[in-house]
Formats: sequence, C-alpha cells, structure tokens
Amino acid sequence: MSYTKILDRSNVLVAGGAGFIGSHLCDALLEKNNVICIDNFITGQEENIDLLMQNQNFKFIKHDLIEPIDLEALPELEVFKVKYQGLQQIYNLACPTSPKEYHHLPIETLLTNSQGTRNLLDLAVKYKARFLHASSASIYGEPIANQKFKEADWGSIDPVGPRSCYNEGKRFAESLVVNYGNYRSVDFRIARIFNTFGPRMKLQDGRMIPDFIAHALTNQPLTIYGSPEEISTYCYVSDMVDGLLKLMDHSGAGVFNLGSPEAYKMKDIAQMIIDLTGAKVSFEEAEALPYLAKQGVPDITLAKEQLGWFPLTKLEDGLRATINYGNAHEYVLGPKLSA
Ligand code: NAD
Repeated sequence: MSYTKILDRSNVLVAGGAGFIGSHLCDALLEKNNVICIDNFITGQEENIDLLMQNQNFKFIKHDLIEPIDLEALPELEVFKVKYQGLQQIYNLACPTSPKEYHHLPIETLLTNSQGTRNLLDLAVKYKARFLHASSASIYGEPIANQKFKEADWGSIDPVGPRSCYNEGKRFAESLVVNYGNYRSVDFRIARIFNTFGPRMKLQDGRMIPDFIAHALTNQPLTIYGSPEEISTYCYVSDMVDGLLKLMDHSGAGVFNLGSPEAYKMKDIAQMIIDLTGAKVSFEEAEALPYLAKQGVPDITLAKEQLGWFPLTKLEDGLRATINYGNAHEYVLGPKLSA
C-alpha cells in the first residue's frame, strides 16, 4: 500500500508529546501540521497538553509505546485520513527522564528505548516517514577536564552503574535508528540533546534548575550536590524546539549535538535564581548523588554550519520564564517556609 499526502496539513507523530520538550514541540508543529501525540504519562503531565486538546488538528493517544500500535485502527485518527495519507514525520521523544526515576523505572527506560523505538521505526518504514530521534548528551558519558563533546566522539559509559538504564538505553536506541537507516531505508536524524530547561519541567524531580526554583520559591536553601564549582550548560526550551524543527527539515540524515555551548558554575546558577526570585535563602553543599553525572559542554559547530541553528535565549530570560511557571504552579511546590 502506498500512502500519499491528500490533506493540506502533514501528519506528524510526536512520541512523548505530553512531556516537557514534547509538548512545546507539539505547540510549534500545530501551526502547519496535524499532530498525533502518543504518551503514557509515565513521566509526562496531562496538564502540558490540556490546551492542545481543544485544537482540532491535535489528537492524543494514551498508549505505552513498548507495545506496537496500529494507527489505522484508531477511530479518533480517521479525520487525519491516516489510512490513505499515512504519516509524513515521526519525532521520538518518548523516554522516562527524571533522574530520580532511574531507581523506579529502569526496565521501562530500557524497554522504551529498545522496543518502543523499534515500534516507532516500524511505523517509519511502513509510512516512509522521516524519523527524528531525541537522544542525549548522556551517550558520551562524563567529560574529561573541560572537553567539549563533538558528534564524532564515541563516549565512555559504565554499563552497570546507577544511570546505565538511561545511558545504555539511549546508546542502543541510536544504534537501532542508524541501522534502520542503513538496512530499512529510514530517513533519520538524531538529536543529541544537552540540558534543556523551561516552563513545564516537572518541579522537584531531581533536575537542578527546577529543584533550585522550587526551593527558592518555598524559602528553602538551594542544595548543590557535588562541587559548587562544577559546570553545566542550559538551553532554553524554545531554542531546543527550534533546533529539532530545523533538524527535521534538514536535507540530510545525520547526528547533531543540540544544546547551549555556554557553561555556568552551579553556584552562579543558584545565586542567579536566588536573586531573580528575591528569596531570602542561600545555597548549601551536599555530597554528589550517585545518579547525577558530571555534565559536558556541546560543540555545536555542526548544528551552526549545517542547520543554521544556535541558542538565542539569554539564561536569565529563560530562568525568569521558568520561575513565573513555578509561581503559577505553587501547588506542586510543597510547603512554603516563612522567609
Ligand atoms: P519528559 O519526561 O518530560 O518527556 C518524555 C515523555 O515520554 C513523557 O511525557 C513520558 O510520559 C513519555 N514516555 C516515556 N515512556 C513512554 C512509553 N513507553 N510510552 C509512551 N510515552 C512514554 O522528558 P523531556 O525532558 O521532555 O525529554 C524529552 C526527550 O529528550 C527524552 O527522550 C529525553 O531523554 C531527551 N533529553 C532531554 C533532556 C532535557 O534536558 N530535558 C536532555 C537530554 C535528552
């Protein structure tokens, strides 16, 4: 059966579309496309797609991607004529992500990266859809000194450590995508995403910026796990979405680092959040947590040269928007201590 585009809008599937980055990506894609969002809410939030549910060009399917899915059997997708038009693009962002969840969801993480990615790649084969896979900086492992990671770097990972389900899952998924490219003709792109932040990140889930913001907004000291001198980089979510869209539209297959090349010390981020919130708190040091890895800095030369992409949002502006989101979601912050 061959599928031909018959509607004005392309059919685009976003796996993990109820998550933090995925929901912002759905927002952007809806300007020109029909969007099929698949998510099982394992780490995503219904609230992220509440407004989108009212858009007639958006359809949500609650499904665990570890199981195969037959889109043509779903009555809610009849309006997108999937039976005849198929899919034009697939974005795979599905993966349990919160560092704290590694302990709770290790098997789900491995299976989503393996079986889940395979099920989506089979849809890409069936519909001849272009496939963008959201990988991660974590495939590189920890940086040596101030090394910047290039796409050609092979990385070095502990296959049995506390983060192995995520790191090895992501590495396996990349290999699966590349081999579906080589042997099943899938037109693929891989985005190696570095730390991204912004509104809709779950507060208090073990990632540094939302944890700092949640603490500052509830007048609790900000805890820096490991050395306050440790560096990391932070890309604002609208820039990341722009990078993913540009990568999907790029003419050639390939692997690209997407992230901010500007590195900041943990203590400087903590202080910036304290200043921006006006919290009467300071930061304190604690022993590094076993599941938190040292962060690397991306070399984004390839993305700059081939996609014309680089992050535009100033860290301070992104933090301000994320703090506003935290303020509007006070109910998830926990008890507020008096200043
Ligand atoms: P997120 O947890 O908010 O989004 C992931 C979404 O995938 C969630 O909504 C979750 O419910 C869904 N999901 C997970 N397993 C699923 C399954 N089996 N079936 C259906 N849905 C499933 O995370 P995010 O921060 O938006 O990350 C999106 C992608 O980008 C992930 O693949 C993540 O690994 C990658 N990434 C993110 C960052 C970052 O800093 N946010 C950094 C590197 C890589």
